[in-house]
Amino acid sequence: MSFVDLHCHSTASDGTLPPAQVVRLAGESGLSALALTDHDTVGGISEAQAQARRIGLDFLAGIEISAEYPQPGTLHILGYGIDPLSPQLNEMMRTLLEGRDNRNPRIVEKLRSLGVAITMAEVEQEARAGSDELKHKPIGRPHIAAILLRKGYVTSIKQAFDKYLAPGGLAYFDKERLTPRQAIERIGQAGGVAVLAHPVQLRAENDAQLERTVKDLVDLGLEGIEVIHSDHDEAMVEKCSHLADRFGLLKTGGSDFHGSNKKDIQLGRAAGRRIPRDFFDALRLRLNQTRERAIAR
Ligand code: AMP
Ligand code: ZN
Ligand code: FE
Ligand code: FE
Repeated sequence: MSFVDLHCHSTASDGTLPPAQVVRLAGESGLSALALTDHDTVGGISEAQAQARRIGLDFLAGIEISAEYPQPGTLHILGYGIDPLSPQLNEMMRTLLEGRDNRNPRIVEKLRSLGVAITMAEVEQEARAGSDELKHKPIGRPHIAAILLRKGYVTSIKQAFDKYLAPGGLAYFDKERLTPRQAIERIGQAGGVAVLAHPVQLRAENDAQLERTVKDLVDLGLEGIEVIHSDHDEAMVEKCSHLADRFGLLKTGGSDFHGSNKKDIQLGRAAGRRIPRDFFDALRLRLNQTRERAIAR
């Protein structure tokens, strides 16, 4: 039996290990394949891919995009097999970066008004740790949370979110997002396959609502659903598996590893479960078929 991880983050976004080190860790953890899915960026893909080639690990380029969705839910779309050079994808990444550039100073200002000693320079410094190419790097709330923790304003990353950074928190500001349609469209334009990440985070009120949301996304071109994830209990895994069968979706799974930003999550593990190699093979097969169709056209 061979295992994989199809959802993880590096220093290219808000993880704490550089892309090559995430790949190395995957190899050391006995995984046979990995997809790197940083938030809003493919900035870590070339480094990860090169390292994967060096150690003989199968690798898929990935990305995780936050789309518009009514609170308290969050809707994240994973894109697999995307071409990092796609113009549409790069235009999208610029838009999303701008959204963050607008939001982060507002969070910092608000925190300062609450008596927290923090500056944008510190936030940028925090984000730069582990990677020198800050220019195109998405800076996110976990970077701010890490500073709050280090300076003793909170006692955990979770508390930083609960008190300040999450919706309802004292310094919460939303950022500009794509609509689900736009996110799925961009992934398709970049030659990738769109997958619904951690459906539990949609916070659907009941099964019917969850099913409706999935159906709406399928109508927009969604091709897969993340069945195994660190936030999924056994019932949710079952539910997502059932939805995948019902709508003919690919099943995927991942840890959502972030390095020491999420200390309880290990690469290749999702709440005690592992992710079967079949998920990776089916995804790669679909991508090959998509590519062949595109060439035939
Ligand atoms: P951002 O990119 O600024 O929207 O932040 C997204 C990141 O924050 C993701 O890595 C999430 O897993 C993380 N995050 C969101 N909510 C929380 C929370 N309540 N506790 C810890 N991390 C969170
Ligand atoms: Zn993250
Ligand atoms: Fe996510
Ligand atoms: Fe993630």
